[in-house]
Amino acid sequence: MVKVENTKNIAMSDFIVNLDHGDPTAYEEYWRKMGDRCTVTIRGCDLMSYFSDINNLCWFLEPELAEAIKELHAVVGNAATEDRYIVVGTGSTQLCQAAVHALSLLAGGTEPVSIVAAAPYYSTYVEETTYVRSCMYKWEGDAWGFDKKGPFIELVTSPNNPDGTIRDSVVNRPDDDEAKVIHDFAYYWPHYTPITRCQDHDIMLFTFSKITGHAGSRIGWALVKDKEVAKKMVEYIMVNSIGVSKESQVRTAKILKVLKETCTSETDNFFEYGRELMKKRWEKLREMVKESDFTLPKYPEGYCNFFGKTLESYPAFAWLGTKEETDLVNDLRRQKVMCRAGERCGSDKKHVRVSMLSREDVFTVFLERLDNMKQIKSIDF
Ligand code: PMP
Repeated sequence: MVKVENTKNIAMSDFIVNLDHGDPTAYEEYWRKMGDRCTVTIRGCDLMSYFSDINNLCWFLEPELAEAIKELHAVVGNAATEDRYIVVGTGSTQLCQAAVHALSLLAGGTEPVSIVAAAPYYSTYVEETTYVRSCMYKWEGDAWGFDKKGPFIELVTSPNNPDGTIRDSVVNRPDDDEAKVIHDFAYYWPHYTPITRCQDHDIMLFTFSKITGHAGSRIGWALVKDKEVAKKMVEYIMVNSIGVSKESQVRTAKILKVLKETCTSETDNFFEYGRELMKKRWEKLREMVKESDFTLPKYPEGYCNFFGKTLESYPAFAWLGTKEETDLVNDLRRQKVMCRAGERCGSDKKHVRVSMLSREDVFTVFLERLDNMKQIKSIDF
């Protein structure tokens, strides 16, 4: 029996399944079971100053969060933290804009710097680079086939949102000083993908939201090699929000510490839990899509250094396609399922992005609606 949270007593057939946003509520159950292990007490007199550590380039970064970030990366082995600056942000959304701003400013030219990402790309990059109508940079869309001369920034998301593929720069001009890359590693964690190498790029973005599911805390961090870039990013955040909530940072530090502790635990390893959850969902979805007109990408297995074995990928989004000539986002909307249109990600009408991180009951209703669509399509008129 499906038990969707339904406070307004809406008939189940009218219930709208919203899998458009990647709201990561899937892990709530795990953290509920952790009880008070992550509880943080903050008194009225605590955390009142704007400043966290005036000796740090990122003066609004709480030292205990910096420590927790370094420890977690060391245990997981997904990114190098040595010899680089940590810049904390209000989600990695703010950091991506800070990085684009910093690189464009330091490019120093009179023409706007081109911003590209290989399609299908994370659609929010479009809004992030167009909304404020900056004259320093310009969204130029798909990186495949981009061959404009001059400074450019490529946004590389790996594993990719929306299609889960492992990505590298596609413009690929390693010897060009005007070529800059921002690596968005929001999903480079062991529950989603095998950790095959310790990433070591110039600017790497991470978000608390997609590791543990605590999107509401709005914490992200950037690992930045170049001091000038880090400085400009800090300046941007200063102008934008005079730092980042200390309450959020302290809570994040606590939860990341607990997460790290669970990594060596036999019974409540968070990444083990997350991987199992994602695996089950992907197996159910693949079963549903089997022998239908729907399509899903296949992912190669990889040796995961964290788990010490060869593993499959279970991306946070399903890149659902159809073999039919149809507008899939509207077909799904008719079944009261909302997801992100492929066109918004620089792709086509035959693809949609579906969040795999909803609460379990919502995911179950989604599968039922897909099944419905399959049944309707199989009726031979
Ligand atoms: N990058 C990617 C690829 C994402 O999918 C998301 C979240 N949807 C973000 C960045 C932003 O994460 P946040 O602002 O919550 O840290």
